[in-house]
Amino acid sequence: MGGAARGEPPPPVASRRGVALWVSRAARVGPQLLLLLAVAGMPAHGVAAGPAIDESRVVDLTYTFDDTTIYWPTEDGFHLQQGPHGFTPQGYFYAANHFTTAEHGGTHMDAPIHFAQGRSTADQVPLPATMGPAVVVDVRDAAAADRDYRLTVADLERWEAKYGRIPDGAIVLMRSDWGRFWPNRRDYLGTAEKGDVANLHFPGFSKEAAEWLLARRSIDAIGVDTPSIDHGPSKTFIVHQTINGANKPAFENVANMDKLPEQGALFVALPMKIGGGSGAPARIMAVLP
Ligand SMILES: [Zn+2]
Repeated sequence: MGGAARGEPPPPVASRRGVALWVSRAARVGPQLLLLLAVAGMPAHGVAAGPAIDESRVVDLTYTFDDTTIYWPTEDGFHLQQGPHGFTPQGYFYAANHFTTAEHGGTHMDAPIHFAQGRSTADQVPLPATMGPAVVVDVRDAAAADRDYRLTVADLERWEAKYGRIPDGAIVLMRSDWGRFWPNRRDYLGTAEKGDVANLHFPGFSKEAAEWLLARRSIDAIGVDTPSIDHGPSKTFIVHQTINGANKPAFENVANMDKLPEQGALFVALPMKIGGGSGAPARIMAVLP
């Protein structure tokens, strides 16, 4: 952290505030920093100027929060309570609603404290830990053959054989294409019954793959396009225990993973900053190479 900033001239004052975060991150996502600056039309060294963000390179990895959003069977879903919506006596239009939601549902972050006592809460997870190079591990075929598939060390090694060592600060994403089932609860979760946790069937990470990533590589987080980083039948949530135990967050119900290349995209998650939260709804995007 901050290492790259020492070797580079500071950005001009006019752009320093916006760039500071990225410079502090440059030691770990150097190419991604330059990529994002380029997409944003900002020179790496110079005052912000130029065209708006290239929308064609931005992918929204977030499901809409509404009454169709999938939550864990034991959770209540997302509720929007409509407030004022119309023209006021003064003649201007005004709309403002309330919402209630569990922390864990839809596209969201698991903060480390979710399965690890004393670890970081949602507001304590630093922003650099929620962004980084997207390493997309394709397990579509295995998941199609086995709804309860667990991503293996061999799957990670296969990715590295094609693209090289998983970069430091990576967000390692399991792509099962489970998003094709969204928002059908029976197909996505394995059950549409409220409270039914006995019939959950969907793919996730294996304990061995999580341990390998933590011991052998320097990742920031993992994520899945399914409801949980542990596969459906899990009763111990050992992958949660392992990842959160290492004080790392995870991302679940990541949308549109089929639009990402296996390597080269920048993953950016902005979870709601809930004080003391065990997790939080997140807006997640990727910037394509
Ligand atoms: Zn969660």
